[in-house]
Amino acid sequence: MAISRLDNLYRQVILDHSTKPHHRGTLTESTQTIEMNNPTCGDVIQLEVSLKDGVIADIAFSGDGCSISTASASMMTDAIIGKTVAEAVALGATFSELVQGKAVENEEALGDAAMLQGVSKYPARIKCATLAWKALAQAIDESGDGHGLAHQFHKE
Ligand code: ZN
Repeated sequence: MAISRLDNLYRQVILDHSTKPHHRGTLTESTQTIEMNNPTCGDVIQLEVSLKDGVIADIAFSGDGCSISTASASMMTDAIIGKTVAEAVALGATFSELVQGKAVENEEALGDAAMLQGVSKYPARIKCATLAWKALAQAIDESGDGHGLAHQFHKE
């Protein structure tokens, strides 16, 4: 596939997630609720997480953000529901490296979120892409289930 067609495909998937986000809303039963913002862009996210026996049983987000932050939150929820806390933290670290333009080995584990790789070319947008993942890390930190693993999210 030509690079330009690949770029178009990525753009379309990102657009789909930003206009019709997955898992947008609130949970009836959440164990953690995090609000976080990205002052450089004005994005605000409220993330609700339901952690059960060390597994991310469910997650939902609301708030007001740009298309990149909204698409990233949608992609993040798809990638981490049903994952263990350790798996979610590892995925977050992979995502953080990916959007900083670093080579990663298991980007397919990120699902659609891997399509945000192109954000690495736009440093001002990296914080838009990582906002939802940082909120997730904070939720894991506050749950006490993370055993300090969540610090991996804050390396950037
Ligand atoms: Zn933004």
